[in-house]
Amino acid sequence: MSVDEHVREALHRLEEEIKRCTRCRLHQTRTQAVPGDGPYDAEIMFIGEAPGYHEDKQGRPFVGAAGQYLNELLEKNGLRREDVYITNIVKCRPPRNRDPLPDEIAACQDYLDRQIELINPRVIVTLGRFAMQHFFPGASISRVHGQPRRLGDRIFFPIFHPAAGLYQPKWQPLLEEDFRKLGDLIRRLREPSAQTSYEQLSLFEEDESHHE
Ligand code: SF4
Repeated sequence: MSVDEHVREALHRLEEEIKRCTRCRLHQTRTQAVPGDGPYDAEIMFIGEAPGYHEDKQGRPFVGAAGQYLNELLEKNGLRREDVYITNIVKCRPPRNRDPLPDEIAACQDYLDRQIELINPRVIVTLGRFAMQHFFPGASISRVHGQPRRLGDRIFFPIFHPAAGLYQPKWQPLLEEDFRKLGDLIRRLREPSAQTSYEQLSLFEEDESHHE
């Protein structure tokens, strides 16, 4: 499927805007901004927290150890990195990989909102607490991880950040289980019966009419 030329141009302009951005203090310490990576018509968008050391150097998201682990988890579950779009809540690396601050997240929010609108993914997978709270403020990741939720026309799927599994191996079984569930969700979404109506999804999504 070819990407609409208007969408391609708009995303390209948006990436250039992000690369020049000075809206928050993170521009002072970055090597380069990391807008995102992947097909502009991706069915699935992954949203992490912020670029790390390697991402800041290379200008691409999830290229370090956490990225390698993410690739492995995708492949194990029938998903391919080259088919998904990957970005972060903030596009520039916080110094010493500290957590992004609320004003930095707020300054950067508009870029993510525009990426979502233009790419229009069917499924958004949030990686870690910050990305999840962008969409479900106040929710607890330890309670909602691995459960698909519908918000508007999209399915959201919160997962722990792959870095959690790297630094604390006790989280790996949980991460692997959530990626298994994600692979199942995508397979079901691709079934012809699920193509026409999201009603099909009510068979297996969590009913979350009230967000925490
Ligand atoms: Fe701009 Fe976002 Fe980078 Fe801050 S983190 S300078 S808002 S692109």
